[in-house]
Amino acid sequence: MKRKYNVLILGDGAIGKTSILQVYAGSEFKGEHIRTVGVDSISAVYKHPSETHPGQEESIDFKVWDTAGQERFRTITPQMFRMAHGVIIAFDLTKRETFEGVKVWMDCIYKLSRELCIPKVLVGNKCDLANADGGALRQVLRMEAMKVAQEHEIEYIETSAKEDVNIKELMQHIFKEVYVQQ
Ligand code: GDP
Ligand code: MG
Repeated sequence: MKRKYNVLILGDGAIGKTSILQVYAGSEFKGEHIRTVGVDSISAVYKHPSETHPGQEESIDFKVWDTAGQERFRTITPQMFRMAHGVIIAFDLTKRETFEGVKVWMDCIYKLSRELCIPKVLVGNKCDLANADGGALRQVLRMEAMKVAQEHEIEYIETSAKEDVNIKELMQHIFKEVYVQQ
């Protein structure tokens, strides 16, 4: 049977969720707010060394779902969550309030997933801006974000959709977390 897993990307509006997905899917960074029209997910294949056939790879299909429109209320619908095997929680390193939003998103996740401990990863996006000019625009320190991630026993990754920094690594990480937990 072919396995298929779903990952959700959550976070406040305009932090770059859609940009991250588009860049990962191979589109160019657009530099503007992208309204989600029609397709709101991207497909990806994660390759993992086969446990049964040494030297070979196992291919696992993933879908990563964008959550446009729901971020305004900092909630996700239970239906959307029911089908998720992993969650990316993202914020904008140059907008403090989006980091405060992470707490709300986390609460939301725990509320909806009572028993199961779903794989998660915390992402600080727009590191290109945050690291420019000696960090003048950065509103969230790496240490602070790492502390939050540690509290939840998850990884913290800083990304830039604009400069394609750590996007692939982010996706590989969450895919692997989902894969090993299953
Ligand atoms: P979403 O609402 O979370 O899906 O955010 P979007 O992907 O629509 O991006 C919101 C705005 O932030 C757009 O103007 C993007 O071009 C910009 N943006 C997204 N990611 C980055 C990034 O890594 N660096 C910079 N400088 N801008 C970004
Ligand atoms: Mg969007």
